[in-house]
Amino acid sequence: MGSSDALRSDIRGIRGIGEKRAQALNSLGIFSLFDLISYFPRRYEDRSEIASIGLTQDGETVTVCAVCGDEPRISRIRRGLDLVRFRIYDNTGELTVTFFNQPYVRNQIRRGETYRFYGKVEMKGSRRSMANPAFEAEEAAGPLSVTGRIVPVYGLRSGLQQKLLRQSIRQGLDSCLETLPEVLPEALRKEFALADAPSAYEAIHFPESPDALSAARKRFIFEELFVLSCALDRRRQQRAAGIPVPRPDFDDFYSALPFAPTRAQRRAVEEAAEDLASGMQMNRLLQGDVGSGKTLVAAALVWQCSRTGRLSLFMAPTEILAEQHFRTLTAFLAPFGIRVGLLTGSMKAAEKRAVRSALESGALDLLVGTHALLGDDLSLSDPVLVITDEQHRFGVDQRARLARAKGMPPHVYVMSATPIPRTLALMIYGDLSVSVLDELPPGRKEIETFCVGSAYHERLLNFIRKLCAEGRQVFVVCPKVEDESDEPESSSAGDSGKLLSAVEHAEQLRRELPELRIDCLHGRMKPAEKDAAMGRMLRDETDVLVSTTVIEVGVDVPNAALMLIENAERFGLSQLHQLRGRVGRGQHASYCVLVTDHHGAEVKARMKALCESSDGFHIAEEDLRLRGPGDFFGSRQHGLPEMHLAELGAETESLLKARDAAHRLLEEDPLLESPEHRDLHDRVQLLSEKMNGTLN
Ligand code: ADP
Ligand code: MG
Repeated sequence: MGSSDALRSDIRGIRGIGEKRAQALNSLGIFSLFDLISYFPRRYEDRSEIASIGLTQDGETVTVCAVCGDEPRISRIRRGLDLVRFRIYDNTGELTVTFFNQPYVRNQIRRGETYRFYGKVEMKGSRRSMANPAFEAEEAAGPLSVTGRIVPVYGLRSGLQQKLLRQSIRQGLDSCLETLPEVLPEALRKEFALADAPSAYEAIHFPESPDALSAARKRFIFEELFVLSCALDRRRQQRAAGIPVPRPDFDDFYSALPFAPTRAQRRAVEEAAEDLASGMQMNRLLQGDVGSGKTLVAAALVWQCSRTGRLSLFMAPTEILAEQHFRTLTAFLAPFGIRVGLLTGSMKAAEKRAVRSALESGALDLLVGTHALLGDDLSLSDPVLVITDEQHRFGVDQRARLARAKGMPPHVYVMSATPIPRTLALMIYGDLSVSVLDELPPGRKEIETFCVGSAYHERLLNFIRKLCAEGRQVFVVCPKVEDESDEPESSSAGDSGKLLSAVEHAEQLRRELPELRIDCLHGRMKPAEKDAAMGRMLRDETDVLVSTTVIEVGVDVPNAALMLIENAERFGLSQLHQLRGRVGRGQHASYCVLVTDHHGAEVKARMKALCESSDGFHIAEEDLRLRGPGDFFGSRQHGLPEMHLAELGAETESLLKARDAAHRLLEEDPLLESPEHRDLHDRVQLLSEKMNGTLN
């Protein structure tokens, strides 16, 4: 049995772990020996400093080393409440120790003997006391001692005790420390000055010093990212076979366009075209800031695929967007005789039937529709290419569905304007390859961005009047739908005004700007109502559209020249950037005004980042830095396995190193076959098995 097999073995096989304890550990998700030793402490308490009783302060948590001054007494305070009490002293002072409902303590403490106690000091006048401290004999030593060292604190469920976990992990470590697999080849450990496995496992649980602990953490962060990188790289290698789509000469396509594609667009097309021609299934993400011209790239790929005589699908998140894309794609593709169809929920039944029968008879090359609708038709229509636009869930659902489809899987192309830091994207999208549009089409005017207080309201009204008089349109975004009375969390410093609601604000603007056509759009409206309101804005029947963030996705209103965001502090940086991208899509000078009365440092930093930069990726990096990765991704939608130590994003530096190291290693030994890489191979395998449930 290899050492890795031993790590997979059930914890019940460990000496000292019986059925009852095993069940308790199972409740923490610990099943195998490897689970057990990989259950890292949530935090540590440094109990190594010994304090002098006489110098301790009220409320301080300390370790003291003291003599028990009297025979521990037990008293019954009331039914169900026992108290053990005794006094302890050192050279500097004395202290009363109490234990509630732990009568057995009386038998563990002897008058005249010296113990170490760890707990919180409370002072009443000059009298000190400590309740329920951890304690042990003065001469106690070793990893399981609970004072006089750095003590691990594990995340637990109720009913479980730290002591039990420490003991179990100790037993687990003792049973395998000698034979622990080493997933990091020695050369790599040397190169990055990383601790070896046995000392790292020992020190992450039972550190002898702060230095030992940080060395262990450094190693495990690297290991985590490295193994993940290897697993993801291997998945990329193990692509499914795909329909080979011959690569055309794209100049034929480009020359028919009303404008020259940007360098970034050409590159993105090349990258995907190569995937399509490779005979392997394409799984590619196109990341491009708002307005970077993703639709053109999609059109080029549809053009390439149309030559196979097979269908492509284009999925948009809303009907409005589906219709917009239908128009744009038709304009790009119709000159080549490519037949484009549209399928949305609000179409008449007869129209839908017509499209479906066109589909069946092979009379369509491209079908555009909403995610929801086309999702159902995916397997029926047997497409060669599936393009998903603005899918915030990264297409995981669709990809899962596609994976279950019969026959050759279609090529998958996911487009997103949600800027995610580049390094992170590579990890998050798992086995997706990533193309980036890092360049805007020429002649795009910078959107002038300002941040003002609500005192500017009058001046902003004048600005709106002026723009609308020039024939422009305006977006106003509010964080909420209706005014709800005081939000509980709105007591943060500087929060002076109430939150503007979209509905109320629209009413107010109607009073203040009676000459303008003001409309309102929010998430509580029915989809058809929303689409109607958006439609009026598109047809220039609305001057000012007041809305919640429902307009976030890529709707094109080229005539809109101002994005006004009320209570801007309520929005994340990336979200603000997305909103700003709704304007500046035509030839008019465009503006974004952020209204906030918040002056907190974090809010200021956010507003400043936005006023100073128009680069979505730069802004995403800032956002990540300000908010941390937890917030950034919301509810773990990225499908990556949980990290023990590494915080994706926070560890960008290590991430890059680990990825690079993984690439190099896999180039050398693609299947991880060399004996030196056996442990790594096994670990990558183990991780891949875990990921199979979430990715694909
Ligand atoms: P997004 O990446 O936000 O989806 P779109 O595909 O909607 O961007 O493109 C935004 C606008 O830029 C569209 O009006 C499109 O016609 C225009 N556009 C795209 N590529 C170019 C280009 N190379 N040169 C000039 N305009 C372009
Ligand atoms: Mg778009």
